[in-house]
Amino acid sequence: MPDPLEGPRDAAMLCTRCHLHGPASRTVFGEGRADAKLVFVGEQPGDQEDLQGRPFVGPAGQLFDTILGEVGIDRSETYVTNSVKHFKFEPRGPRRIHQKPDAGEVQLCRWWVDKEIALIRPKLLVALGATAAFSLLDRTVGIMRERGSIHKRGKDGMPVLLTYHPSFLLRIRDEADKARQRANFASDLAQARDWLAANA
Ligand code: SF4
Repeated sequence: MPDPLEGPRDAAMLCTRCHLHGPASRTVFGEGRADAKLVFVGEQPGDQEDLQGRPFVGPAGQLFDTILGEVGIDRSETYVTNSVKHFKFEPRGPRRIHQKPDAGEVQLCRWWVDKEIALIRPKLLVALGATAAFSLLDRTVGIMRERGSIHKRGKDGMPVLLTYHPSFLLRIRDEADKARQRANFASDLAQARDWLAANA
């Protein structure tokens, strides 16, 4: 079967809609099933994703895979992408330090996210973090306050479940808090699994 995402993926490789294409190595488009019922949207590729050209393959992606496995979601049955397709960073010596994309960059790159969603037409979108929530819902979201809730997108009525970005878990120093937030994240992913089972 032809892959409906092939054209947009190829076109995104040449995207110069914003300045972020300059310093980054490559466009990191989404990957997964073109007929996925569940689509995860993160923030932007990190250092490893930029080097490998694939989303969610760095430390946060590995933690994401682990927790997905724990709640019984098979990543190969889903589609995983980012709100912004180029890595935004600040060079510091040999290191490239992640920088959060701003609202204008997210709005420009929404062109690609909306194309992915329109072609896949999933049952449920999961916003991983505040940037993804802004990209999908076009409003500022307090993730700590709103995680675990489901909202309808104005433009297509598609439901969006809000949760943390897995990189948030990696940044927590306090072990008890880390365990608590990890359990919250797992609970949100389990909610996505159960919502799909009830509505797919
Ligand atoms: S970040 Fe998005 S909008 Fe900006 S150049 Fe890359 S693909 Fe295009």
